[in-house]
Amino acid sequence: MKIIIVGGVAGGATAAARIRRNDEAAEIVLVERGHYISFANCGLPYHISGTIAEREQLLVTSESTFKDRYRVDVRSRTEAIAIDRKTKVVRLRDLASGDEYDESYDKLLLSPGAEPIRPKLPGIDSARVFGLRNIPDLDRIMSHLDQNSVRRAVVIGGGFIGIEVAENLNDKGISTTLVEGTDQILAPLDYEMAAIVHSHMRDKNVELYLSDRVDQFEDKDDHTVVYLASGRRLQADIIVLAIGVRPETTLARGAALEIGATGGIKVNDHLQTSDSDIYAVGDAIEITQTISGKPALIPLAGPANRQGRMAADNIIFGNTKQYKGTLGTAILKAFDLAAASTGLNEKQLRAADVPFLSCVTHSGSHASYYPGAKQVSIKLLFSPDGQILGAQAVGADGVDKRLDVIATAIYGGLNVEDLTDLELAYAPPFGSAKDPVNMAGYVASNILNHSHELIDWRELRDTLEIKDAKLQLIDVRTAEEFEFGSIPTARNIDVNQLREHLDELDPEQPLVLFCQVGIRGYIAYRILKQHGFTQIRNLSGGYKTYSWAVDKQSNPDIFDYEDLKRRDPAEIEADISGSCEVSAALIAPESSGELHTLDAIGLQCPGPIMKTYKAMNALDAGELLEVTASDPAFGRDIRAWAKKTGNDLLSVKAEKGLVIVLLRKTAPAPVAETTAPAVRDKLTLVVFSDDLDKVMASMIIANGALAMGKPVSLFFTFWGLDVIRREDAPHINKPMMDRMFSTMLPSDADHLNSISKMDMHGMGAKMIRKVMHDKGVETPGNLLHSLVEGGAQLIACQMSMDVMGIKEEELIDGVEIGGVAAFLGEAGESGTTLFI
Ligand code: FAD
Repeated sequence: MKIIIVGGVAGGATAAARIRRNDEAAEIVLVERGHYISFANCGLPYHISGTIAEREQLLVTSESTFKDRYRVDVRSRTEAIAIDRKTKVVRLRDLASGDEYDESYDKLLLSPGAEPIRPKLPGIDSARVFGLRNIPDLDRIMSHLDQNSVRRAVVIGGGFIGIEVAENLNDKGISTTLVEGTDQILAPLDYEMAAIVHSHMRDKNVELYLSDRVDQFEDKDDHTVVYLASGRRLQADIIVLAIGVRPETTLARGAALEIGATGGIKVNDHLQTSDSDIYAVGDAIEITQTISGKPALIPLAGPANRQGRMAADNIIFGNTKQYKGTLGTAILKAFDLAAASTGLNEKQLRAADVPFLSCVTHSGSHASYYPGAKQVSIKLLFSPDGQILGAQAVGADGVDKRLDVIATAIYGGLNVEDLTDLELAYAPPFGSAKDPVNMAGYVASNILNHSHELIDWRELRDTLEIKDAKLQLIDVRTAEEFEFGSIPTARNIDVNQLREHLDELDPEQPLVLFCQVGIRGYIAYRILKQHGFTQIRNLSGGYKTYSWAVDKQSNPDIFDYEDLKRRDPAEIEADISGSCEVSAALIAPESSGELHTLDAIGLQCPGPIMKTYKAMNALDAGELLEVTASDPAFGRDIRAWAKKTGNDLLSVKAEKGLVIVLLRKTAPAPVAETTAPAVRDKLTLVVFSDDLDKVMASMIIANGALAMGKPVSLFFTFWGLDVIRREDAPHINKPMMDRMFSTMLPSDADHLNSISKMDMHGMGAKMIRKVMHDKGVETPGNLLHSLVEGGAQLIACQMSMDVMGIKEEELIDGVEIGGVAAFLGEAGESGTTLFI
């Protein structure tokens, strides 16, 4: 049998090799228009930065190897220009000589790929405007970069290729701007998931224009001006166009093969075109999207390779294989993050008229207590009967395996309930006993069995915009987290105190709960549900997703194009609350003090902020602090914190999944002479109880207040004295009653053995302690220690000590002994006094 294959890269080269492995006798002619067959198109962007150092690494198989190993008649620089289906002949043109000739076939396989879209814009033929599809395109880009002093790049198109090119230009040290016509990059992701990448690009100092389009290009002597529809003008030394591809169908159309409604070559389940002797695969064909069952174009290398192999089998063995459709599983390295998706997203489900539910979870890539855990955000979309319809994942580590597990689950016909049962490999460096995939399954299953109802960020934002007075919006995070930022109009009731505040809420009115990522909101939901509240919903993905999604998405005007320097970060901050970067070396010498570093990797919010606050406290005005954190939201949080505390935020940058910020301590503002009454900005807490939950609440509030720069006093009385007892207290001879008390009570903060509700004879405290440990929450002992270190005033109530027979030697260092006068004195100076 004689087989001609048109297109010698992903689908075509795969098919040629497979045909030979199936049939030693087949005559195989592989026709490729370009210079190279089987090159790594997916690797092209990474040569720009030098990540793939050698150009030759991109040439996966050479023509001669292919000829020697597979005995395939490879004809590169040869274009198939026409097919005569009646005589079964393909007309070929030798592009070197211009000669044309006919080649007959028994079977023909088309794998001509896709062609980049290149709109007819004024100035698009500029020598500074490039595309990236093949090796010659890459060569042109590389020689332009080598031969010119390229400092400013504009990439047009926020799809996979555009982002990869932008990342690699940025990695090369070129000031890079990305322009995208819609309101988000990465169309396969839903908006709130793409927002994570937008925010990360800000930390990477990539200028981003969304909802803006290029109108024209104008060449100047040493640069090109890119005119955007918004009226902006960008100066560029290189422009890369990546606004999408369309199926390469010239040959197929010329041969009157059927073309589908999407513009791709129509094929049946066996990958045969409307002519049974002609097969087609890859980017050029219209496939059936697995979930919707509708025709679609999904130009990806995985499907092209699988189709090439399948078509080869069908050609040799006679249509033994059926192509089951394309799910669209894809992944991209978006700077330090991975962004992946499978199945359909919200927009596509709506367009296909498929009813769906969704949930967003933020989990650790592995156990939080093992170093280096990063956040994995997963959005799961599913039908009301539990069928998995799609998933998206974004994060710096572990995204690929989670997304692949879900893609495999979809392929295997598993439903969301099955995700909870998946037994996935676990050890602390790799995952969690409840893997992020299990967690997504739990949340989705709870929605389906009606034990949990979610509201997504968009519906909540829209509801708040119409100022629905009846909506009770409750932030169930700690007071300290609330203070760092919350949703406007929200009221803060810590989930741990929710039961004490039930009578302040209206069970008949709609109520929306939220916490940082959704877990505490779910616990609060269950509490309220069991207390008769009927109209409750928990915010999907918590405050984290909401704040990412409602944040400003573009990152405009960070470069001063005229003399090409980064604008003054302070000026940018003032303008847009956006990005800034300045290296420590660029800070004016007279204003730079000693540089200190702080490692906050692995800490969950608000850990990095609290640690930063303490470290800043220890500095003198003018000194610098560089903080490294793994919480991807740290960049945004630190901007708010610096604004609130008045310290200078000199830079925020992201590297290898970590956020690195540079702060400069400012001198405290001089106290203005005023006759107005002083603002009482001190916090006093009376710690009466030794219930672990109450103690934790007081420790966290006190640490939070300290972190915000407030003076804090804690007055420990009665059972609260147990918190400040030291475990290694010296032996003291005491009367029998006092001895009894001493032995029955917890020895120190880390041995508190009761909680205020669901104590279950001490089991509750053990359970909470385990959960706190698993989630990386600090112990009460550590929190107490940071209070002492942070300068909080700890007062032990003399009267209570007498009653309980506790001696001064039994208390931790740094505690003052005081009476009610001491307490009243502190309380009198305080703006807030809490009794816990
Ligand atoms: P191609 O691999 O494009 O091969 C088609 C070949 O046919 C071309 O070489 C062309 O010259 C030749 N041809 C066309 N017409 C004729 C003719 N008339 N006569 C002779 N020859 C002809 N996909 C992923 O899944 N993951 C990625 O990370 C990824 N990254 C990418 C990065 C870049 C920069 C690019 C350009 C693509 C990337 N892709 C990625 C897409 C992936 O490369 C394609 O989906 C895949 O190569 C399609 O395979 P194909 O065989 O259909 O077409």
